[in-house]
Amino acid sequence: MRKFSDPLALREYRKSCQESVGFVPTMGALHEGHITLIKQSVKENSKTVVSIFVNPTQFLEGEDLEDYPRKIEADLKICELAGVDALFLPTIDAMYEKDELSIIAPKTKGFVLEGFHRPSHFDGVLQVVLKLLNITTPTRAYFGKKDAQQLFMIQNMVKHLFLNVEIVPCEIVRETDGLALSSRNVYLTPKEREKALSLSKSLKYATKMIMNNNKKSEDIKSEMLSILKETQVEYVEIVDHQFNRLKEVEIGNTIILVATFVGTTRLIDNIWI
Ligand code: AMP
Repeated sequence: MRKFSDPLALREYRKSCQESVGFVPTMGALHEGHITLIKQSVKENSKTVVSIFVNPTQFLEGEDLEDYPRKIEADLKICELAGVDALFLPTIDAMYEKDELSIIAPKTKGFVLEGFHRPSHFDGVLQVVLKLLNITTPTRAYFGKKDAQQLFMIQNMVKHLFLNVEIVPCEIVRETDGLALSSRNVYLTPKEREKALSLSKSLKYATKMIMNNNKKSEDIKSEMLSILKETQVEYVEIVDHQFNRLKEVEIGNTIILVATFVGTTRLIDNIWI
């Protein structure tokens, strides 16, 4: 596995790859969720590039930028074992100039849900993903459905800016008890981890209601909120695949999303119906 910290050196490496290149951007502290994305890329492409970069511009004031879990030694081993060809580990200075043009997420869809509760978060995400895509110019780039709105924002950016890359959405990977894997799960105490199960439980219950033909968003959200009552809910929302709010679930075109604080840890989860 090759390692790069210089964006231009990675670009030279990419030029030498004649065939397809898959790209998996991450912030490190890799877990099974990331590994699934990496393995899918390895399967579908001649070469796979993974980036590990805790991007400062997507963190808001007061969020966990400083404390974000960093496990670089373990990450290196994971990437090696998963068959990664090139690992990109840039510094902040290599990625950013002091005075840069800004990228602003779309005014409506970028400012609801995650965009509402974490204003400017998506601006930072799109800024770094655009840079990473320009450096790597991959054939395909892999993103988890766990960050459903992020995936939607990136798909939109690719469309709006005519980027020449295929975005591949990947299924959410969960622990056996249902908890969606996240680098932030390490913050949870054993008691909080128990409470964190209410996210996936609420989504499971929502599915059950829909299977029993109760598709009214208000009914589903109210049941979910009662399952989530021991957490500090930011939002429970039911939207279509374009992130328009739905009054009623549309089978095949619905995402049910939840964001909540368990203690001081902010967790998100969702299910695609
Ligand atoms: P992160 O390192 O948290 O920025 O995540 C990097 C990529 O991994 C993003 O595309 C995430 O959506 C994806 N990802 C994170 N957790 C999961 C999970 N549990 N299942 C599937 N994909 C995930």
